[in-house]
Amino acid sequence: MYRREQSFGIQMLSVQPDTKPKGCAGCNRKIKDRYLLKALDKYWHEDCLKCACCDCRLGEVGSTLYTKANLILCRRDYLRLFGVTGNCAACSKLIPAFEMVMRAKENVYHLDCFACQLCNQRFCVGDKFFLKNNMILCQTDYEEGLMKEGYSTQVR
Ligand SMILES: [Zn+2]
Ligand SMILES: [Zn+2]
Ligand SMILES: [Zn+2]
Ligand SMILES: [Zn+2]
Repeated sequence: MYRREQSFGIQMLSVQPDTKPKGCAGCNRKIKDRYLLKALDKYWHEDCLKCACCDCRLGEVGSTLYTKANLILCRRDYLRLFGVTGNCAACSKLIPAFEMVMRAKENVYHLDCFACQLCNQRFCVGDKFFLKNNMILCQTDYEEGLMKEGYSTQVR
């Protein structure tokens, strides 16, 4: 399941003095300022288009806003609340929010990517897996690796 980011651009417009003042979608008052913001097909006071989470003024922060469940959010909060989980430690592609992931220590993996990176064996619940040099390994490959290392250090 993949969800696209709900991001929308914000335009800053200067208000023409001879036009009727527009109503602000935030506070419902008329916008009598020199500038107004247009976003989501609505007009806003510069002070009224704010992140529902951190209250930052969205007209200033990169001019993009994010919406989700009727909330207007800045990029940082959107990502924190609904955003990508992180990069898959195996394929290094982004993992979208709400997707099921596997976790091993601080690493996250797509379900499909969570397999031994040497022999591609998948793990079932309860199976043992090992993390070595940030690679997921099955028990066989992990132990084989240990044996090889032990061997090479013996040779030296
Ligand atoms: Zn307003
Ligand atoms: Zn915010
Ligand atoms: Zn992956
Ligand atoms: Zn393996």
